[in-house]
Amino acid sequence: MKVLVLGAGVVGTACAHYLSGDGHEVTVIDRQAAPALETSFANAGGVCPGFAGPWAAPGMPLKVMGWLFKSHAPLLLRPRFDPAQWRWLAQFVGNCTAERFAHNKARMQRIAHYSKQCLVELRSATGIAYDEGTGGVLQIFRTEEELAGGRRAAAVLERFGVVHRIVTAQEARALEPALAADVPIAGGLHLSTDETGDCHLFTARLAERLRASGVTFHFDTRIDAIMREGDRIGGILTNRGLFTADCYVVALGSEAPFLLRPLDITLPIYPVKGYAITLDRVRDEGAPRSSVMDEHSKVMVTRLGARLRAAGVAEVGGYDRSADPSKAAGVLEAARMLFPRAGDYQQVSYWAGLRPMTPDGPPYLGPTPFANLFLNLGQGSNGWTQACGCGRIVADLVGGRAPAIDLDGLTLVSRH
Ligand SMILES: Cc1cc2nc3c(=O)[nH]c(=O)nc-3n(C[C@H](O)[C@H](O)[C@H](O)COP(=O)(O)OP(=O)(O)OC[C@H]3O[C@@H](n4cnc5c(N)ncnc54)[C@H](O)[C@@H]3O)c2cc1C
Repeated sequence: MKVLVLGAGVVGTACAHYLSGDGHEVTVIDRQAAPALETSFANAGGVCPGFAGPWAAPGMPLKVMGWLFKSHAPLLLRPRFDPAQWRWLAQFVGNCTAERFAHNKARMQRIAHYSKQCLVELRSATGIAYDEGTGGVLQIFRTEEELAGGRRAAAVLERFGVVHRIVTAQEARALEPALAADVPIAGGLHLSTDETGDCHLFTARLAERLRASGVTFHFDTRIDAIMREGDRIGGILTNRGLFTADCYVVALGSEAPFLLRPLDITLPIYPVKGYAITLDRVRDEGAPRSSVMDEHSKVMVTRLGARLRAAGVAEVGGYDRSADPSKAAGVLEAARMLFPRAGDYQQVSYWAGLRPMTPDGPPYLGPTPFANLFLNLGQGSNGWTQACGCGRIVADLVGGRAPAIDLDGLTLVSRH
Protein backbone atom coordinates (compact mmCIF):
# COMPACT_ATOMS: atom_id res chain seq x y z
CA MET A 1 0.00 0.00 0.00
CA LYS A 2 1.16 3.60 -0.65
CA VAL A 3 1.24 5.50 2.66
CA LEU A 4 1.89 9.23 3.10
CA VAL A 5 3.16 10.29 6.51
CA LEU A 6 2.57 13.98 7.20
CA GLY A 7 5.34 15.30 9.46
CA ALA A 8 8.96 14.23 9.93
CA GLY A 9 9.30 14.85 13.64
CA VAL A 10 10.20 11.93 15.88
CA VAL A 11 6.57 10.76 15.85
CA GLY A 12 6.16 10.74 12.04
CA THR A 13 9.62 9.32 11.36
CA ALA A 14 9.23 6.48 13.89
CA CYS A 15 5.86 5.66 12.34
CA ALA A 16 7.43 5.67 8.84
CA HIS A 17 9.96 3.12 10.13
CA TYR A 18 7.27 0.66 11.20
CA LEU A 19 5.15 1.24 8.11
CA SER A 20 8.11 0.64 5.85
CA GLY A 21 9.05 -2.46 7.87
CA ASP A 22 5.55 -3.78 7.17
CA GLY A 23 6.26 -3.55 3.44
CA HIS A 24 4.33 -0.38 2.59
CA GLU A 25 5.61 2.16 0.06
CA VAL A 26 6.16 5.13 2.39
CA THR A 27 6.58 8.83 1.64
CA VAL A 28 7.12 11.46 4.35
CA ILE A 29 6.36 15.17 3.87
CA ASP A 30 7.61 18.04 6.01
CA ARG A 31 7.87 21.82 5.65
CA GLN A 32 11.34 21.91 7.20
CA ALA A 33 14.60 21.19 5.38
CA ALA A 34 15.39 18.05 7.40
CA PRO A 35 13.82 15.73 9.98
CA ALA A 36 13.12 16.77 13.59
CA LEU A 37 13.75 20.49 13.25
CA GLU A 38 10.69 21.56 15.25
CA THR A 39 9.58 20.17 18.64
CA SER A 40 11.74 17.06 18.31
CA PHE A 41 14.92 19.12 17.95
CA ALA A 42 16.25 19.87 21.44
CA ASN A 43 13.99 18.43 24.10
CA ALA A 44 15.16 17.35 27.55
CA GLY A 45 16.28 13.99 26.20
CA GLY A 46 14.38 11.86 28.70
CA VAL A 47 12.88 8.53 27.69
CA CYS A 48 10.96 8.35 30.92
CA PRO A 49 7.89 6.13 31.04
CA GLY A 50 7.97 6.37 34.82
CA PHE A 51 7.22 10.10 34.61
CA ALA A 52 4.55 9.78 31.93
CA GLY A 53 1.43 11.28 33.40
CA PRO A 54 -1.02 14.11 32.82
CA TRP A 55 -0.17 17.65 33.88
CA ALA A 56 -3.86 18.06 34.64
CA ALA A 57 -3.76 16.82 38.23
CA PRO A 58 -5.60 17.55 41.48
CA GLY A 59 -4.27 20.79 42.94
CA MET A 60 -2.75 21.98 39.65
CA PRO A 61 -5.18 24.93 39.10
CA LEU A 62 -4.19 26.33 42.53
CA LYS A 63 -0.50 25.88 41.81
CA VAL A 64 -0.90 27.70 38.48
CA MET A 65 -2.68 30.59 40.23
CA GLY A 66 0.28 30.84 42.62
CA TRP A 67 2.72 30.99 39.70
CA LEU A 68 0.73 33.64 37.80
CA PHE A 69 2.77 36.63 38.91
CA LYS A 70 6.22 35.00 39.11
CA SER A 71 8.62 35.86 36.30
CA HIS A 72 10.33 32.43 36.06
CA ALA A 73 7.46 30.14 37.02
CA PRO A 74 7.43 26.56 35.63
CA LEU A 75 4.02 27.25 34.05
CA LEU A 76 3.15 30.55 32.42
CA LEU A 77 -0.30 31.41 31.21
CA ARG A 78 -0.42 34.03 28.46
CA PRO A 79 -4.10 34.58 27.66
CA ARG A 80 -4.94 35.30 24.02
CA PHE A 81 -8.11 36.11 22.12
CA ASP A 82 -8.15 32.54 20.92
CA PRO A 83 -11.20 30.37 21.64
CA ALA A 84 -9.06 27.24 21.12
CA GLN A 85 -6.83 28.32 24.02
CA TRP A 86 -9.79 28.91 26.34
CA ARG A 87 -11.48 25.66 25.37
CA TRP A 88 -8.20 23.82 26.02
CA LEU A 89 -7.77 25.51 29.42
CA ALA A 90 -11.36 24.68 30.42
CA GLN A 91 -10.83 21.03 29.47
CA PHE A 92 -7.50 21.01 31.30
CA VAL A 93 -9.17 22.23 34.50
CA GLY A 94 -11.97 19.67 33.99
CA ASN A 95 -9.33 16.93 34.02
CA CYS A 96 -7.81 18.03 37.32
CA THR A 97 -9.99 15.74 39.44
CA ALA A 98 -8.57 12.67 41.19
CA GLU A 99 -10.79 10.38 39.10
CA ARG A 100 -9.82 11.90 35.72
CA PHE A 101 -6.17 11.97 36.73
CA ALA A 102 -6.22 8.24 37.57
CA HIS A 103 -7.83 7.38 34.20
CA ASN A 104 -5.45 9.56 32.22
CA LYS A 105 -2.36 8.41 34.10
CA ALA A 106 -3.22 4.76 33.46
CA ARG A 107 -3.64 5.46 29.73
CA MET A 108 -0.32 7.30 29.50
CA GLN A 109 1.54 4.67 31.48
CA ARG A 110 0.21 1.96 29.17
CA ILE A 111 1.51 3.63 26.03
CA ALA A 112 4.76 4.93 27.57
CA HIS A 113 6.03 1.57 28.85
CA TYR A 114 5.09 -0.18 25.64
CA SER A 115 6.87 2.56 23.74
CA LYS A 116 10.11 2.25 25.68
CA GLN A 117 10.09 -1.47 24.87
CA CYS A 118 9.62 -0.63 21.16
CA LEU A 119 12.52 1.86 21.28
CA VAL A 120 14.85 -0.70 22.88
CA GLU A 121 13.89 -3.26 20.20
CA LEU A 122 14.32 -0.71 17.40
CA ARG A 123 17.75 0.25 18.77
CA SER A 124 18.97 -3.31 18.85
CA ALA A 125 17.48 -4.12 15.43
CA THR A 126 19.00 -1.06 13.71
CA GLY A 127 22.11 -0.31 15.78
CA ILE A 128 21.26 3.41 15.70
CA ALA A 129 23.33 5.46 18.14
CA TYR A 130 21.91 8.74 19.43
CA ASP A 131 24.03 9.66 22.48
CA GLU A 132 21.77 7.32 24.38
CA GLY A 133 22.18 6.56 28.06
CA THR A 134 20.65 3.84 30.21
CA GLY A 135 21.57 5.34 33.58
CA GLY A 136 18.03 6.17 34.74
CA VAL A 137 16.59 9.46 35.93
CA LEU A 138 16.88 10.94 39.40
CA GLN A 139 14.14 13.32 40.51
CA ILE A 140 15.30 15.52 43.36
CA PHE A 141 13.15 17.24 45.98
CA ARG A 142 14.47 20.31 47.71
CA THR A 143 11.86 20.49 50.49
CA GLU A 144 10.04 18.04 52.75
CA GLU A 145 6.78 19.09 51.10
CA GLU A 146 8.15 18.18 47.66
CA LEU A 147 9.44 14.89 49.04
CA ALA A 148 5.97 14.10 50.39
CA GLY A 149 4.66 14.66 46.84
CA GLY A 150 7.41 12.31 45.61
CA ARG A 151 6.23 9.62 48.01
CA ARG A 152 2.69 9.98 46.69
CA ALA A 153 4.03 9.67 43.11
CA ALA A 154 5.99 6.58 44.19
CA ALA A 155 2.80 4.97 45.47
CA VAL A 156 1.25 5.47 42.02
CA LEU A 157 4.37 3.99 40.36
CA GLU A 158 4.02 0.99 42.65
CA ARG A 159 0.52 0.41 41.29
CA PHE A 160 1.85 0.41 37.72
CA GLY A 161 4.75 -1.89 38.59
CA VAL A 162 7.38 0.74 37.68
CA VAL A 163 10.88 0.08 39.04
CA HIS A 164 11.64 2.97 41.41
CA ARG A 165 13.23 3.84 44.74
CA ILE A 166 12.86 6.75 47.15
CA VAL A 167 16.42 7.76 48.04
CA THR A 168 17.94 9.87 50.81
CA ALA A 169 19.86 13.05 50.06
CA GLN A 170 23.09 11.14 50.57
CA GLU A 171 22.04 8.43 48.16
CA ALA A 172 20.94 11.06 45.63
CA ARG A 173 24.38 12.68 45.81
CA ALA A 174 26.04 9.28 45.43
CA LEU A 175 24.00 8.67 42.26
CA GLU A 176 24.85 12.12 40.87
CA PRO A 177 28.09 13.21 42.58
CA ALA A 178 28.39 16.44 40.56
CA LEU A 179 25.25 17.93 42.13
CA ALA A 180 26.26 21.21 43.82
CA ALA A 181 26.88 20.81 47.54
CA ASP A 182 24.84 23.92 48.36
CA VAL A 183 21.64 22.72 46.66
CA PRO A 184 19.32 21.65 49.46
CA ILE A 185 18.10 18.09 48.90
CA ALA A 186 15.39 16.53 51.07
CA GLY A 187 15.42 13.30 49.08
CA GLY A 188 14.90 11.88 45.63
CA LEU A 189 13.05 9.40 43.48
CA HIS A 190 15.26 7.21 41.33
CA LEU A 191 13.85 5.59 38.21
CA SER A 192 16.72 3.32 37.31
CA THR A 193 15.24 1.85 34.12
CA ASP A 194 14.40 5.17 32.45
CA GLU A 195 16.70 6.19 29.61
CA THR A 196 18.09 9.28 27.92
CA GLY A 197 19.08 10.22 24.40
CA ASP A 198 19.14 12.90 21.73
CA CYS A 199 15.76 12.87 20.01
CA HIS A 200 17.01 14.89 17.03
CA LEU A 201 19.99 12.62 16.43
CA PHE A 202 17.77 9.54 16.72
CA THR A 203 15.25 10.92 14.22
CA ALA A 204 17.88 12.15 11.76
CA ARG A 205 19.71 8.80 11.80
CA LEU A 206 16.50 6.81 11.52
CA ALA A 207 15.44 8.96 8.54
CA GLU A 208 18.85 8.37 6.91
CA ARG A 209 18.36 4.61 7.22
CA LEU A 210 14.81 4.83 5.95
CA ARG A 211 15.90 6.81 2.91
CA ALA A 212 18.56 4.20 2.16
CA SER A 213 15.91 1.49 2.35
CA GLY A 214 13.54 3.20 -0.08
CA VAL A 215 11.39 5.60 1.97
CA THR A 216 10.96 8.93 0.16
CA PHE A 217 11.25 12.20 2.10
CA HIS A 218 9.95 15.47 0.65
CA PHE A 219 11.34 18.34 2.71
CA ASP A 220 10.66 22.07 2.29
CA THR A 221 7.12 21.04 1.41
CA ARG A 222 4.31 22.87 3.19
CA ILE A 223 1.02 21.04 3.57
CA ASP A 224 -1.88 23.43 2.92
CA ALA A 225 -4.89 21.10 2.97
CA ILE A 226 -6.01 17.52 3.39
CA MET A 227 -8.48 16.92 0.55
CA ARG A 228 -11.65 14.91 1.20
CA GLU A 229 -13.33 12.81 -1.46
CA GLY A 230 -16.59 11.56 0.00
CA ASP A 231 -15.76 9.44 3.01
CA ARG A 232 -12.10 9.08 2.05
CA ILE A 233 -9.08 11.33 1.73
CA GLY A 234 -8.15 11.95 -1.90
CA GLY A 235 -4.84 13.75 -1.54
CA ILE A 236 -2.66 16.29 0.22
CA LEU A 237 -2.38 19.76 -1.23
CA THR A 238 1.07 21.33 -0.77
CA ASN A 239 3.04 24.28 -2.09
CA ARG A 240 4.68 21.71 -4.40
CA GLY A 241 1.48 20.25 -5.75
CA LEU A 242 -0.87 17.40 -4.91
CA PHE A 243 0.40 14.18 -3.26
CA THR A 244 -1.79 11.08 -3.34
CA ALA A 245 -1.62 7.71 -1.61
CA ASP A 246 -3.86 4.87 -0.43
CA CYS A 247 -3.54 5.91 3.18
CA TYR A 248 -2.49 8.99 5.19
CA VAL A 249 -1.00 9.36 8.68
CA VAL A 250 -1.12 12.79 10.34
CA ALA A 251 1.90 13.42 12.59
CA LEU A 252 2.04 17.21 12.36
CA GLY A 253 2.34 18.11 16.04
CA SER A 254 0.69 21.24 17.41
CA GLU A 255 -0.63 22.63 14.14
CA ALA A 256 -2.49 19.51 13.03
CA PRO A 257 -5.87 20.80 14.33
CA PHE A 258 -5.83 23.60 11.70
CA LEU A 259 -5.61 21.05 8.87
CA LEU A 260 -8.09 18.62 10.45
CA ARG A 261 -10.83 21.12 11.30
CA PRO A 262 -12.03 21.49 7.67
CA LEU A 263 -12.62 17.70 7.77
CA ASP A 264 -14.86 18.19 10.85
CA ILE A 265 -12.25 16.55 13.07
CA THR A 266 -11.83 18.81 16.10
CA LEU A 267 -8.91 17.90 18.34
CA PRO A 268 -8.14 19.72 21.59
CA ILE A 269 -4.39 19.91 20.95
CA TYR A 270 -2.75 23.18 21.94
CA PRO A 271 0.95 24.20 21.96
CA VAL A 272 2.65 24.42 25.33
CA LYS A 273 5.97 26.09 24.76
CA GLY A 274 9.16 24.96 26.48
CA TYR A 275 12.73 26.21 26.46
CA ALA A 276 16.07 24.43 26.41
CA ILE A 277 19.73 25.29 26.64
CA THR A 278 22.58 23.15 25.37
CA LEU A 279 26.19 23.23 26.46
CA ASP A 280 28.28 21.75 23.68
CA ARG A 281 31.22 20.57 25.73
CA VAL A 282 30.80 19.44 29.30
CA ARG A 283 33.43 18.93 31.94
CA ASP A 284 32.92 15.27 32.78
CA GLU A 285 33.42 15.60 36.50
CA GLY A 286 31.02 18.56 36.79
CA ALA A 287 28.13 17.18 34.72
CA PRO A 288 25.35 14.72 35.58
CA ARG A 289 26.15 11.08 34.95
CA SER A 290 22.68 10.60 33.50
CA SER A 291 19.71 12.90 34.12
CA VAL A 292 18.32 14.92 37.02
CA MET A 293 14.78 16.26 37.19
CA ASP A 294 14.59 19.10 39.71
CA GLU A 295 11.05 19.09 41.09
CA HIS A 296 11.45 22.63 42.46
CA SER A 297 12.16 24.36 39.15
CA LYS A 298 10.67 21.56 36.97
CA VAL A 299 13.88 21.69 34.95
CA MET A 300 15.47 18.49 33.68
CA VAL A 301 19.24 18.39 33.16
CA THR A 302 20.54 15.56 31.00
CA ARG A 303 23.88 14.44 29.72
CA LEU A 304 23.81 13.69 26.01
CA GLY A 305 27.22 12.29 25.13
CA ALA A 306 29.69 15.15 25.47
CA ARG A 307 26.87 17.71 25.77
CA LEU A 308 24.51 18.87 28.47
CA ARG A 309 20.88 19.70 27.83
CA ALA A 310 18.58 21.45 30.30
CA ALA A 311 14.93 22.03 29.52
CA GLY A 312 11.77 23.20 31.20
CA VAL A 313 9.04 25.88 31.35
CA ALA A 314 5.49 25.45 30.13
CA GLU A 315 4.08 28.54 28.46
CA VAL A 316 0.47 28.38 27.28
CA GLY A 317 0.52 31.30 24.90
CA GLY A 318 0.20 30.48 21.22
CA TYR A 319 2.31 29.33 18.28
CA ASP A 320 5.41 31.54 18.44
CA ARG A 321 8.53 29.34 18.32
CA SER A 322 11.19 32.01 18.96
CA ALA A 323 13.73 31.20 21.66
CA ASP A 324 14.07 34.40 23.66
CA PRO A 325 17.03 33.86 26.04
CA SER A 326 15.35 35.96 28.73
CA LYS A 327 12.46 33.45 28.85
CA ALA A 328 14.93 30.57 29.14
CA ALA A 329 16.74 32.28 32.01
CA GLY A 330 15.01 30.09 34.62
CA VAL A 331 16.22 26.96 32.82
CA LEU A 332 19.77 28.27 32.58
CA GLU A 333 19.78 29.31 36.24
CA ALA A 334 18.46 25.94 37.43
CA ALA A 335 21.09 24.06 35.41
CA ARG A 336 23.86 26.34 36.70
CA MET A 337 22.65 25.98 40.27
CA LEU A 338 22.48 22.18 40.11
CA PHE A 339 25.67 21.59 38.10
CA PRO A 340 27.79 24.76 38.37
CA ARG A 341 30.95 22.99 37.19
CA ALA A 342 29.41 21.33 34.14
CA GLY A 343 30.88 23.81 31.66
CA ASP A 344 30.89 27.39 30.48
CA TYR A 345 27.34 28.68 30.88
CA GLN A 346 28.23 31.80 28.88
CA GLN A 347 28.44 29.56 25.80
CA VAL A 348 25.03 27.96 25.56
CA SER A 349 22.68 27.66 22.63
CA TYR A 350 19.01 28.44 23.19
CA TRP A 351 16.01 26.65 21.75
CA ALA A 352 12.25 26.65 22.17
CA GLY A 353 9.66 24.10 21.07
CA LEU A 354 5.90 23.66 21.17
CA ARG A 355 4.70 20.55 22.99
CA PRO A 356 1.57 19.29 21.19
CA MET A 357 -0.51 18.90 24.37
CA THR A 358 -3.91 17.40 24.89
CA PRO A 359 -5.73 18.78 27.95
CA ASP A 360 -6.13 15.31 29.48
CA GLY A 361 -2.64 14.01 28.60
CA PRO A 362 -2.85 10.92 26.34
CA PRO A 363 -2.22 11.18 22.58
CA TYR A 364 -4.72 10.56 19.77
CA LEU A 365 -3.85 7.45 17.76
CA GLY A 366 -5.38 5.67 14.81
CA PRO A 367 -8.72 5.81 13.05
CA THR A 368 -10.79 8.82 12.04
CA PRO A 369 -14.21 9.04 10.34
CA PHE A 370 -12.24 8.73 7.07
CA ALA A 371 -11.31 5.10 6.38
CA ASN A 372 -7.85 5.98 4.99
CA LEU A 373 -6.86 8.75 7.46
CA PHE A 374 -5.02 7.94 10.70
CA LEU A 375 -3.87 10.11 13.60
CA ASN A 376 -0.56 10.07 15.46
CA LEU A 377 -0.80 13.27 17.48
CA GLY A 378 -0.79 14.97 20.86
CA GLN A 379 2.13 13.24 22.60
CA GLY A 380 2.72 16.50 24.49
CA SER A 381 5.57 16.48 26.98
CA ASN A 382 6.31 12.78 26.35
CA GLY A 383 6.62 12.55 22.57
CA TRP A 384 10.18 11.26 22.55
CA THR A 385 9.24 8.62 25.11
CA GLN A 386 6.09 7.63 23.25
CA ALA A 387 7.16 7.92 19.59
CA CYS A 388 8.14 4.31 18.89
CA GLY A 389 5.12 2.75 20.59
CA CYS A 390 2.73 5.17 18.88
CA GLY A 391 4.44 4.50 15.54
CA ARG A 392 4.15 0.73 15.99
CA ILE A 393 0.47 1.00 16.98
CA VAL A 394 -0.50 3.27 14.07
CA ALA A 395 1.34 1.01 11.62
CA ASP A 396 -0.56 -1.97 13.06
CA LEU A 397 -3.87 -0.16 12.58
CA VAL A 398 -2.98 0.88 9.02
CA GLY A 399 -2.14 -2.76 8.30
CA GLY A 400 -5.42 -3.98 9.82
CA ARG A 401 -3.69 -5.75 12.73
CA ALA A 402 -4.64 -5.55 16.39
CA PRO A 403 -2.02 -3.55 18.32
CA ALA A 404 -0.19 -5.18 21.23
CA ILE A 405 -1.82 -2.92 23.85
CA ASP A 406 -5.37 -1.92 24.68
CA LEU A 407 -6.19 1.38 22.95
CA ASP A 408 -9.03 2.39 25.26
CA GLY A 409 -8.76 6.16 25.76
CA LEU A 410 -6.05 6.56 23.11
CA THR A 411 -8.24 6.89 20.03
CA LEU A 412 -10.77 9.45 18.84
CA VAL A 413 -13.76 7.18 19.41
CA SER A 414 -12.66 5.70 22.75
CA ARG A 415 -11.92 9.05 24.45
CA HIS A 416 -14.27 9.55 27.39
C1 LIG B 1 11.29 21.92 26.32
C2 LIG B 1 10.79 20.54 25.94
C3 LIG B 1 11.30 19.44 26.60
C4 LIG B 1 10.82 18.16 26.29
N1 LIG B 1 11.39 17.08 26.89
C5 LIG B 1 10.96 15.82 26.59
C6 LIG B 1 11.55 14.68 27.20
O1 LIG B 1 12.49 14.78 27.97
N2 LIG B 1 11.05 13.46 26.88
C7 LIG B 1 9.99 13.30 26.02
O2 LIG B 1 9.55 12.17 25.82
N3 LIG B 1 9.46 14.37 25.38
C8 LIG B 1 9.91 15.61 25.65
N4 LIG B 1 9.36 16.70 25.03
C9 LIG B 1 8.23 16.49 24.11
C10 LIG B 1 8.69 16.03 22.72
O3 LIG B 1 9.78 16.80 22.28
C11 LIG B 1 7.51 16.16 21.76
O4 LIG B 1 6.38 15.50 22.27
C12 LIG B 1 7.84 15.53 20.40
O5 LIG B 1 9.01 16.09 19.88
C13 LIG B 1 6.69 15.75 19.43
O6 LIG B 1 7.06 15.17 18.23
P1 LIG B 1 6.17 15.36 16.92
O7 LIG B 1 6.84 14.58 15.85
O8 LIG B 1 4.75 15.11 17.23
O9 LIG B 1 6.25 16.92 16.64
P2 LIG B 1 7.33 17.73 15.78
O10 LIG B 1 8.70 17.31 16.09
O11 LIG B 1 7.01 19.17 15.94
O12 LIG B 1 7.01 17.24 14.31
C14 LIG B 1 5.94 17.73 13.55
C15 LIG B 1 6.46 17.98 12.16
O13 LIG B 1 5.39 18.43 11.35
C16 LIG B 1 5.88 19.41 10.48
N5 LIG B 1 4.75 20.26 10.06
C17 LIG B 1 3.85 20.89 10.87
N6 LIG B 1 2.96 21.55 10.11
C18 LIG B 1 3.29 21.32 8.82
C19 LIG B 1 2.73 21.72 7.55
N7 LIG B 1 1.64 22.48 7.47
N8 LIG B 1 3.33 21.27 6.44
C20 LIG B 1 4.42 20.47 6.49
N9 LIG B 1 5.00 20.08 7.63
C21 LIG B 1 4.43 20.50 8.78
C22 LIG B 1 6.90 20.17 11.28
O14 LIG B 1 7.86 20.79 10.44
C23 LIG B 1 7.52 19.08 12.15
O15 LIG B 1 8.71 18.57 11.61
C24 LIG B 1 9.81 18.00 25.31
C25 LIG B 1 9.32 19.11 24.63
C26 LIG B 1 9.81 20.38 24.93
C27 LIG B 1 9.29 21.56 24.18
